[in-house]
Amino acid sequence: MDLGIKGRKAIICAASKGLGKACAMALSREGVDVVIAARGAEALEATAKEIRNETGGKVTAVVADVTTRQGRAALLNACKEPDILITNAGGPPHGDFREFDVDDWIKALNTNMIPAIEPIKATIDPMIARKFGRIVNITSRAVKEPGSNLPLSNGARAGLTGFASSVARDVAEHNVIMNNLLPGSFETDRLRSGINEMVKKTGKSAEELRKWGVSRIPARRIGDPEEFGAMCAYLCSVHVGYMVAQNIMMDGGEYPGLL
Ligand code: NAP
Repeated sequence: MDLGIKGRKAIICAASKGLGKACAMALSREGVDVVIAARGAEALEATAKEIRNETGGKVTAVVADVTTRQGRAALLNACKEPDILITNAGGPPHGDFREFDVDDWIKALNTNMIPAIEPIKATIDPMIARKFGRIVNITSRAVKEPGSNLPLSNGARAGLTGFASSVARDVAEHNVIMNNLLPGSFETDRLRSGINEMVKKTGKSAEELRKWGVSRIPARRIGDPEEFGAMCAYLCSVHVGYMVAQNIMMDGGEYPGLL
């Protein structure tokens, strides 16, 4: 299927590794010029090189912390009028809500809510003027099924989901389409560090915990980031013009709800 986005320009936040990287690779495969950001220069440059080598596409790497004003400004400076925006950042720490204070909550909002809202605010009006825009917010399965050990993520991401729901409906008539993509368990550093934390807490082995996790997933496996990237690219395609403000779950069937 031709996604119809060859020659478009995209910003992909938090994209030197994991899900963001997979989205950047998938978009570059479709002929999109990609601007990728992360804090660590070495991994970011390596990823930019890997994408260029595979796709032959234009890849610009911007070392930037998307949780800061300066980082977001540097990123937007490298691509002032993107057609496609993928918002993403690292995940907040796990833990019981009693362990967190106001500063932790503000940090969570500054990680999983504001770094999406601010770039959307900066790029959406030019998208409206050009009558084309695609925005995908990488959130989490926890938005639909909040786990008790992730209060910071549950709260901040629910806030972003509420914001996106109203804005997506305001701009859809201009062919600016915003949806959220909700990962379940994908094979990334974030997943591996979560397992390592659980090893420390429970005393169980990583293998045991992984087996238990997989047993709860109807697909009986952990997701491949490449699958996530492919879905992201589709959500940026010309084919999603009538799909507005959706929360697309990619979790191997783990979420048990009907809708
Ligand atoms: P990952 O493999 O750890 O990769 C995170 C990427 O984001 C890295 O490139 C990292 O590079 C970059 N990054 C982190 N903080 C950043 C910041 N402040 N500014 C710029 N770049 C930043 O994580 P992932 O698994 O892809 O997760 C992506 C998002 O999906 C996270 O919010 C995570 O909580 C969520 N999620 C993941 C899963 C899963 O199973 N993987 C499930 C549910 C939700 P630097 O560290 O160099 O900046």
